[in-house]
Amino acid sequence: MFRRGKMKSIKKIVILGAGYGGVHAGKMLAKKFKNNSDVEITLIDRHSYHTLMTELHEVAGNRVDQDSVKISLKKIFSATKVNVVLDNISKIDFEGKKLVSDTDTYSYDYLVIGTGAEPAFFGVPGVKENGFTLWSLDDALKVKEHIKSMFKLASKEKRAEKRKEMLTFVVAGAGFTGIELVGELAEWKKRLCYEYGIDESEVTLYDVEAMAKILPILNDGLIAKAETYLKSIGVNILTNAPIVQVNKDSIVLKDGREIKTHTLVWTCGVQGNEVAANFGLTMGQRQRIQSKDTLQSMDHENVYLVGDNTWYLDGGKPIPQIVETAIQTGETAAHNIIADIEGKEKKAFKLNYHGVMVSLGSKYAVADLMGKSMSGFVAMLMKHIVNLHYLFGVAGINQCLAYIKHEFFGVKDNRSFIGGHIAAKSPSFLLAVLRVYVGVIWLLEGLKKVKDGWLKPENIYIIADATSGASAAGEATANAVTPLLSQPPAIYTWFMDTVIAPIAFPVQAMVVLGEIGIGLALIAGLFTFLAALASVALCCMFIISAMAGKEIFWHFFSGIALMGGAGRSLGLDYYVMPWLKKWWNRTKIARKTYLYMDEPTIKA
Ligand SMILES: Cc1cc2nc3c(=O)[nH]c(=O)nc-3n(C[C@H](O)[C@H](O)[C@H](O)COP(=O)(O)OP(=O)(O)OC[C@H]3O[C@@H](n4cnc5c(N)ncnc54)[C@H](O)[C@@H]3O)c2cc1C
Repeated sequence: MFRRGKMKSIKKIVILGAGYGGVHAGKMLAKKFKNNSDVEITLIDRHSYHTLMTELHEVAGNRVDQDSVKISLKKIFSATKVNVVLDNISKIDFEGKKLVSDTDTYSYDYLVIGTGAEPAFFGVPGVKENGFTLWSLDDALKVKEHIKSMFKLASKEKRAEKRKEMLTFVVAGAGFTGIELVGELAEWKKRLCYEYGIDESEVTLYDVEAMAKILPILNDGLIAKAETYLKSIGVNILTNAPIVQVNKDSIVLKDGREIKTHTLVWTCGVQGNEVAANFGLTMGQRQRIQSKDTLQSMDHENVYLVGDNTWYLDGGKPIPQIVETAIQTGETAAHNIIADIEGKEKKAFKLNYHGVMVSLGSKYAVADLMGKSMSGFVAMLMKHIVNLHYLFGVAGINQCLAYIKHEFFGVKDNRSFIGGHIAAKSPSFLLAVLRVYVGVIWLLEGLKKVKDGWLKPENIYIIADATSGASAAGEATANAVTPLLSQPPAIYTWFMDTVIAPIAFPVQAMVVLGEIGIGLALIAGLFTFLAALASVALCCMFIISAMAGKEIFWHFFSGIALMGGAGRSLGLDYYVMPWLKKWWNRTKIARKTYLYMDEPTIKA
């Protein structure tokens, strides 16, 4: 039986690949079709996380943990209509409009392909078999483990020549991937030498480049600065030195030179993802899929291309395989799908390039941003700011806090451009004693105020007596104290007289109960951060109101110290915080605002 009437036509949009391009397309489409139940959006990736590819060298060089380059896709698309699917797509049936994996098929009306790139070996013999690459988190972890294993083996090796081979590391390629990697290795070397009892002079690092200069994307001034810095941290740069053969224990250069090594990391170039190249679409060059200016494929109107797997000539030049391209192609593809669904005009893609930043280890960077050259501290600062900006857009403030933790608070061996100044840790149980002490002081102070009659409506101490000019509270509570300020600032007096005076008693009662509450919370170690923050705030208030003498600084600075996790040891926060995190993670608002933690603290 057929039912008469208008059938609801659901449009299925599928995005393949959760890289920079796919994620941005997904976010834009989800925002647009938030309340449109006729549109379904699915994002398929073979990983459950979005990889911050631009930070992979930090994992390979053991600067940060792998967690810092993974953002859960569930988190990115929490509280959106995007259905995240974990699968590896091997084929696409464009006629039947279906993506095919080993276990499933997924139908679509619109498809966005953003499968990224992979290393290009240019037919150099032995690279694939004997070399390492740096184009995925797995690659980065393999490089890291291999380097550690080389130091370990070398530390036991007695034969000088073999030991030298093991301690010689070659990065092939001097684009940003290669240079960023070799910069990290130069930094990590010190720690490895210390751990394995090896003299630093035994370790040799090379960056080998076929072209005449390193970082050709930058201007000559910045290239010179990068070279000088790399040399100063012990990197040997060989330019005009194409590698023609990679063996298990050596590499051979075009001029016949041979470098004995067990480690070659190949970063010489990229090409489009091989699986996508075999989907059967019209190809451009370097294994990238040809697109129209609207980012539609040449063969199917409903198939769009984004990011590194796209071949498109913008102003006669192929669009570069960088993050900005991926993000902007993602946005244009999403815009054009929306236009198609709404019957509006599509737009042509135009890259709006802002620049590039290259870090050489954790302390130095060179950058060309909007035509401005920067180096050193400023360039590094810009790199962090740009990363934070990206993370905020993708996964909110919580992701930014995680980044700050990984890059500054949790750094190993002072590997940050501000050194290890904010990374030093002290056992929080040492703070437990201070916490209880400060808590007792606040409790006694609050109880004293109760005894002095602060909870009686007829006694108002917090408003200054206009005739005496001095704070009555000061007289009542701090007979022997010489206030830091002889008079509160005029604005404070105005605020108290006009805003607080009509509600003086409730405010006064709150101050007293606040002191008692802070005291009890600190003694118990419950909500310690908030209690310590309130303690600092009350100190500031007492100073401004000309009630406090210099003794208050003890409280003030103790409060700051207690914010650093003083409740996690010998306090109730140890139990309450993990429970609260779990509860919070499940709330809708946490997911909607991204203000949730991926991993609730696991307690044994
Ligand atoms: C070490 C390193 C440093 C870099 N530094 C910079 C830099 O400083 N600045 C800059 O602009 N660029 C940099 N890049 C380049 C930049 O990372 C890429 O241009 C960018 O990642 C491209 O984004 P994308 O969305 O096209 O693909 P990707 O980010 O590569 O994502 C592709 C996604 O597709 C998924 N996928 C692929 N095939 C399949 C399949 N068959 N089935 C399911 N899922 C699939 C993958 O799992 C992946 O999640 C760097 C790259 C590296 C490796």
